[in-house]
Amino acid sequence: EDATAITNAEAVDLDRSNVFHSWSAQKSLNPLAIAGGSGSTVWDHDGNTYLDFSSQLVNTNIGHQHPKLIAAIAQQATTLATLAPSHASHVRGQAAAKILSHAPANMEKVFFTNGGADANENAIRMARLHTGRDKVISRYRSYHGNTGAAIVATGDWRRIPNEYSRGHVHVFGPYLYRSEFWAETPEQETERALQHLRRTIQCEGPQSIAAILLETVPGTAGILVPTAEYLQGVRALCDDYGIVMILDEVMAGFGRTGDWFALDAFDVTPDLITFAKGVNSGYVPVGGVIISGEIAATFDERVFPGGLTYSGHPLAAASVVASIEAFEEEDIIGNAARIGRDHLEPGLRALADKHDVIGEVRGRGVFWALELVQDRQSRTPVTAEYMGRVKAELLRLGLLPFIADNRIHVVPPAVVTPEEVVTALAIYDQALTAVER
Ligand code: PLP
Repeated sequence: EDATAITNAEAVDLDRSNVFHSWSAQKSLNPLAIAGGSGSTVWDHDGNTYLDFSSQLVNTNIGHQHPKLIAAIAQQATTLATLAPSHASHVRGQAAAKILSHAPANMEKVFFTNGGADANENAIRMARLHTGRDKVISRYRSYHGNTGAAIVATGDWRRIPNEYSRGHVHVFGPYLYRSEFWAETPEQETERALQHLRRTIQCEGPQSIAAILLETVPGTAGILVPTAEYLQGVRALCDDYGIVMILDEVMAGFGRTGDWFALDAFDVTPDLITFAKGVNSGYVPVGGVIISGEIAATFDERVFPGGLTYSGHPLAAASVVASIEAFEEEDIIGNAARIGRDHLEPGLRALADKHDVIGEVRGRGVFWALELVQDRQSRTPVTAEYMGRVKAELLRLGLLPFIADNRIHVVPPAVVTPEEVVTALAIYDQALTAVER
């Protein structure tokens, strides 16, 4: 379709007449029309361009329209555009092998899903069947996806091994800036968060807990980089009580933190890893579970009661192989790490020196949050109305932002250049100055 043949107004009108949007009251929506993109930039139908510092939903790690992925998808489409998961597919095997080649050494298999939510569904299912237990501990400040009822609504035998009477328990994780534990140092926060988790396990009954599910670095909740000691402490608790450790790397994995997996920075080995987003930057929907040898062996003789029509879809698999090869050949992980260390961190800290509204700067790689507060003493979040003005100003200045609660998440593609970071920093500066005035 020729993007210039239609206008923004036409695209928005057609959307508003026909498309039902996620997470929204529908009536007052006014979505931004996007017609195309390249690298860290997107554009609309009317000739406006935006620097994409949202990476959409923090998933275009390789940027928009990487030619190697586009070619791989097109090539696969001409060969075989779809295939049932039960068949052996060479490209699917390659995708799994590529993923495993960057995963911790205990990982042996990959189960493919359509996205991140169903990756977590299946990881939880594996943990429950592996342990014979049912409860799952996760954190209040987390996002793991938007599914849950389809299998228990199912009428045939596949429902039965998935029916669990007890469910989910939540704990607070470390977040020193808004500590739930009255902590003043990262060490106190870590120690007290682990003690809170240990007491929760004991009070819930260790024999009932199948899994602890954590985002390695909580993303949507605020890019809350933990200490290595916290994640290692969770690992030790899982070992003590026979609990499966699941790390959700859907947002944090594949370059976002400047590592292949976010867990690489913390010297921690989970039993299951869930992924999606950055694995192929969402060019074709895909996600999955990376499975340790020990858990995979549970299903050597026993049926795994889970599956999806499009599991390991060939177009997705081709894009995964191409994306991981491009990451390797173009040192995209290295770029994300250097951008974080040499450009985003110093640039965002300088921004905070200038703007009192920035209460905290945190992150790593191309995964940063600016927390905006009414005053630095009370740390009271700025209002939604304030954030709305920040967002409008950023868009007006040509930057597509990621806004969550009182935070700006600074999350460009992992291929972002130093020059683009300079431009973006100037826009954040200008936007905050305008709103402060
Ligand atoms: N897990 C995390 C950490 C996420 O950030 C997300 C999506 O934002 C999900 C899971 C769900 O992924 P999906 O939207 O592909 O189902």
